[in-house]
Amino acid sequence: MISFNSRPIAAMSGFSLLVLAACSPATKPYEPEAPEPAAFEAAPPHVEVIDSVEAEIPAAGEVEGADPALDSEPDHAGEPHVHGGGDLSITQEDDFLTLTLDAPLANFGLSEAKAPSGTKSEEYANGIAEPFGPTECEETERSVTGRTDGSHGAMTISVVWRCAKIDRVEGMQIHLFDLYPAFQHIDAIYLGPAGEQVAKELTPTDTEIDFD
Ligand SMILES: [Zn+2]
Repeated sequence: MISFNSRPIAAMSGFSLLVLAACSPATKPYEPEAPEPAAFEAAPPHVEVIDSVEAEIPAAGEVEGADPALDSEPDHAGEPHVHGGGDLSITQEDDFLTLTLDAPLANFGLSEAKAPSGTKSEEYANGIAEPFGPTECEETERSVTGRTDGSHGAMTISVVWRCAKIDRVEGMQIHLFDLYPAFQHIDAIYLGPAGEQVAKELTPTDTEIDFD
């Protein structure tokens, strides 16, 4: 009989806890913050505050000199690139290899103030890479899209090959360094059909990425 009485109580309290839990997930993240103000109070921060104020005085002097740099940063907005560098990915899916390169226009000897467009821009995909291994691969698709913010610009090149026996493809030879000597290093990654990955930095003297 006692257990009969206690069970509904337990059920009630459990239910009310559930209700609280259901209502309070948003408040839970706030709970860890509560000890932090206490920690601020517990710390002897006043001397530190004075120190940080003193630190801001020379910092304020730096701000004036830093302003031109800050002004130039918006020019790089969304385009924080390094001339000579590039990002390259190669994915294998079914019978297809897809190469995607993203690199500054300067690497191709182009002005970064004007992005190339139209079918003529697709010439920049010519011969930039070729799969190697004991099979035949044929280029089936390419695209080149440029973009610029007026002072810096980049280009994304995509090339697709269809390979007769894609399992025999051993890797990709990159010809960008020969074609466009302003390229100095390329971060390359291969993503295989089973999730395998190979990452490698390519340079003018190391232009090959093996797929295994
Ligand atoms: Zn640039």
